Amino acid sequence: MKTLCVLGSTGSIGVSTLDVVARHPDKYRVVALTANKNVDDLYQQCLRHRPEYAVMVDAGAASDLQSKISASSADHVQVLSGAEALAKVASLPDVNTVMAAIVGAAGLLPTLAAANAGHTVLLANKEALVMSGTLLMQAVADNNAVLLPIDSEHNAIFQSMPADYTIGQQAHGVRKILLTASGGPFRTLPIEKLDAVTPEQAVAHPNWDMGRKISVDSATMMNKGLELIEACLLFSMPAKAIQIVIHPQSVIHSMVDYDDGSVLAQLGNPDMRTPIAHSLAWPNRIDSGVEPLDIFQVKTLDFEPPDEARFPCLKLAVDAAELGGTRPTVLNAGNEVAVEAFLDSRIRFTDIPKVIEQCLSDVEQSMPDCINSILKVDANARDAANEFITHLTR
Ligand code: NAD
Ligand code: MG
Repeated sequence: MKTLCVLGSTGSIGVSTLDVVARHPDKYRVVALTANKNVDDLYQQCLRHRPEYAVMVDAGAASDLQSKISASSADHVQVLSGAEALAKVASLPDVNTVMAAIVGAAGLLPTLAAANAGHTVLLANKEALVMSGTLLMQAVADNNAVLLPIDSEHNAIFQSMPADYTIGQQAHGVRKILLTASGGPFRTLPIEKLDAVTPEQAVAHPNWDMGRKISVDSATMMNKGLELIEACLLFSMPAKAIQIVIHPQSVIHSMVDYDDGSVLAQLGNPDMRTPIAHSLAWPNRIDSGVEPLDIFQVKTLDFEPPDEARFPCLKLAVDAAELGGTRPTVLNAGNEVAVEAFLDSRIRFTDIPKVIEQCLSDVEQSMPDCINSILKVDANARDAANEFITHLTR
């Protein structure tokens, strides 16, 4: 029996995870669920999955949840509140598997706590890895934890690696990774129209149904930039060995190019329940509820190189991956602040890369040696981003 903590259970990945879990009550038991402040959704999940713990980061939301829980048939659930409670439930001895599906930097400390506890970490929260770099990978290795990628591309790459491959190691005989990208909603929009796109247009992804932050990242292609950094860390590959490929159908989820000329790929319908089920059951296979791929319906698969002029965030991310140090931390923090400002209609879509570039030039770079130095750099980058946004909107 796998015992689960789902961090970010009310989000898009969290909901898909619970959907897969509910199909296999004999294999998985939910021990802890967490969310930021969505009381109604977490309450319904408590009734349905009957965890031992439910964490609401927001104190007011936690007290509302407590009232509802106390009056319900799930009154055994212990309601906790605050960010520290996330790390507590992620490292419980009763838990062996943690789905890291909080969005953004807020997921770093609980994900790290899960790794330090030696748990199996199913990593959706790419920002946690990008900002902490080798520190999270080291925590996994030092504590005999297991890390499995949920991001569909990284999950596809892992599935296309040699059978004895371990995440974090260099794979033998691999020449290149082909990291696929849909190109998002603005792949063919005339570039001069990008200035005026609205948050609603940016979050309307053509192939994937996702949370708002990652949807904007897909529209700027920063998502692919973050994924390139993620791939460097997970597969121990230099940035130059990772080729980003625009593949608008989102049927091939990435490919591995071997020395002998073989190229292995993983295909499937664009539904996150496939990589989630793969990682939950690994090394076995379970039903995920995803429709089988109808290859005759797909008919054609297209590929093209990314357009750097249209997607300036891509180059910022590739440069950060190559230069290393705290650049990925600064890139990620600047992006989080900029995306939030865009979603609040405080800045334009095309301001997002400008904010990030300003952060990269303002924040002093270093080689991070501990998590506190990472958190300090993250905070400095957020200050720089907010200051630049104030200046932009003045
Ligand atoms: P989402 O916005 O739908 O859900 C985010 C979850 O995190 C919610 O449960 C929310 O309550 C919680 N949360 C938000 N802020 C928090 C905070 N400050 N503290 C604690 N909890 C907080 O996001 P999502 O689309 O499910 O994405 C989650 C992560 O998975 C992201 O890192 C994203 O990049 C990654 N990911 C998502 C997809 C996808 O298809 N949605 C695909 C690949 C990777
Ligand atoms: Mg992805």
